[in-house]
Amino acid sequence: MLFNIDLHVHTDRSPDGCSTLLEIAAIAKLKGLHGLALTDHDIMMHEGDSMRLSRELGILVVPGVELTTEAGHLIILNPKRNLLGLSMKEAAHAASIDGSPIIIPHLMDPISHGIGEEQALSLLTYSPLIEVLNASTFSRYNHKASFFATSHSLPAVGGSDAHLADAVGDAYTVVDSPSLELGSVLAAISDGRTMPSGGRTSLATAAKTVFARFMKRISRA
Ligand SMILES: [Zn+2]
Ligand SMILES: [Zn+2]
Repeated sequence: MLFNIDLHVHTDRSPDGCSTLLEIAAIAKLKGLHGLALTDHDIMMHEGDSMRLSRELGILVVPGVELTTEAGHLIILNPKRNLLGLSMKEAAHAASIDGSPIIIPHLMDPISHGIGEEQALSLLTYSPLIEVLNASTFSRYNHKASFFATSHSLPAVGGSDAHLADAVGDAYTVVDSPSLELGSVLAAISDGRTMPSGGRTSLATAAKTVFARFMKRISRA
């Protein structure tokens, strides 16, 4: 069966995230998503939390984290141990041992802390998935990431990188899984049974996000 899952979503737990999980889940369901991965910046989320949230919200919540490493950003789904503070390669190595899917987000976008081609090559041994469709980055960066994935026969995924609920599901991943149970979905992602879909976030929503981030920043100042 095919399930539409946004594999890159930030809540207001991220310093630059502006929507609550409740707001995000409501819009995700309205847009027909079956699930979303919570990938807040440097905030570990575990399987137990995601099971509880999935039940409460009525949508599959895949646990994840977007790590800030010395080389750039790296997404780990279903992390089994604390990965904060590790180098990019240490984190990828640990995730690989634990069977946690590794996603390289916005690979070619230097402004968004993409790790770039050279660093990505050093992760090939860990069979990462490549985010070839990030709704928040420029098309040219997505095209370059797509070329990299194809060149190295790596599975491709999509995600909104939403920092505001309106943008959730603008890009997502179609996952071919026998069921919507978390274990099945994670196994399908690990196997690369994934296809990116959707497009880029509209300029209006992008502008709304910039404004919301600004308001959050000044309210904290
Ligand atoms: Zn990022
Ligand atoms: Zn992100």
